[in-house]
Amino acid sequence: MSEDYRDMWKNLGLDLEAHDALLEVLGNAYQDIYMTQQDRPEGMGYFDFVMSEVHGLRIKELMDKKEAGQKIIGSFCVFVPEEIVLAADAALVGLCAGADFAMEEVDKFLPRNTCSLIKSAFGFNLGKVCPYIESADMIVGENTCDGKKKAYETLNNLVPNLYVMDIPQMKSIEGRDLLKAEYMRFKNAVEELTGITIDSARLKKGIEIVNNKRKAVHRLSILRKANPAPLSGLDALLINQVFFYDDPIRFTDSVNKICDELEKRIEKGEGVLPKGAARILISGCPMAVPNWKLPWIIESSGAVVVGEESCTGERGTRNLTDDSASTVDELMESIVDRYFKVDCAIFTPNPDRLNHIEEMVKTYKADGIIHYGLQFCQPYLMESMSVEKAIEAKNIPMLRLETDYSMEDVEQLRTRVEAFVELLSFRR
Ligand code: SF4
Ligand code: SF4
Repeated sequence: MSEDYRDMWKNLGLDLEAHDALLEVLGNAYQDIYMTQQDRPEGMGYFDFVMSEVHGLRIKELMDKKEAGQKIIGSFCVFVPEEIVLAADAALVGLCAGADFAMEEVDKFLPRNTCSLIKSAFGFNLGKVCPYIESADMIVGENTCDGKKKAYETLNNLVPNLYVMDIPQMKSIEGRDLLKAEYMRFKNAVEELTGITIDSARLKKGIEIVNNKRKAVHRLSILRKANPAPLSGLDALLINQVFFYDDPIRFTDSVNKICDELEKRIEKGEGVLPKGAARILISGCPMAVPNWKLPWIIESSGAVVVGEESCTGERGTRNLTDDSASTVDELMESIVDRYFKVDCAIFTPNPDRLNHIEEMVKTYKADGIIHYGLQFCQPYLMESMSVEKAIEAKNIPMLRLETDYSMEDVEQLRTRVEAFVELLSFRR
């Protein structure tokens, strides 16, 4: 950290000693995984800076916003509409965590067979090491998978400001009605929290900011079609992760800047790995900071990740919200339409996700898919079986992996990934 933020962290109630230990682990992992990459675009310097200040400058900015009367809303899921939050001059930040922390404490609150993502969010809260949780004026939980749904009942006893949003499980008319009703209830809750009435001009502005952010990320994704790939999957994942923390307008500018640079790289035929490197699509559970394990294993095995069918990837960012309507109710309908397309594995049945995976394989010219399932994540692990069957019927190779946040299985995963990369290289 370039500044001393200790007073700020102390005032937020962080456990400074534990927090120091976390930052050290995070910093070392970043050095080892990110800073050892070759031929990174210069534009990644911005994202390196954001990561180096993720608990520092960004928190300071959020504190300054609070000081000015603005509110901070934390979320664990891409179903929480940032458009509504921005329309009330509040900021939305991601609270998912990608590392094991305070696991002994977590075991007192959650069963062992809970996925790492939920455990990690609890660990960061119980260990008092997450300035985002501590600075949030409202924490939004959503009834998506059973694990989260029940965990929020427990979290409600640990934090003073949990708001739970119901989410449909079927893409039916009734399901859409439920989402609409929940988004209207959320709008009211945000208005109550902020004291701001969301009118159509505010909502349009919120939609515009989020659409621009998604357009920029989409522009970046499309550039990854090039061969050789102009950007590593690790760096693309980092950008997708920063999506959840950064100021949205500054983030959009920074993504567009790196896109300008990548376009020049593509013109010159430059890439991060040689042209012949196997191209892999990752599909499955989201990867929160600092969960970089799988892309790191893949890319240090000589392949390149060209796309992420994930909520820290295209599942979370594709599809824009139509902003052509003029009333708040019509704009809310557009927001519902946009989010109702998110094809999370909590939906049953969920054919859209399979179609999207196939579409991404074609778009990004992937040679194969690695399905990433977090241990004990029933929705994605169960769905991975039918995905594999359908994908292999199309003669697309797929490797199904199940893992957690520990580093104990790295060598075992590496052996399987290397064999898969070899198979893909042989088929080319
Ligand atoms: S995978 Fe599902 S539950 Fe998780 S962030 Fe995405 S939409 Fe939300
Ligand atoms: S990874 Fe799976 S089990 Fe864990 S929170 Fe997401 S959907 Fe639920």
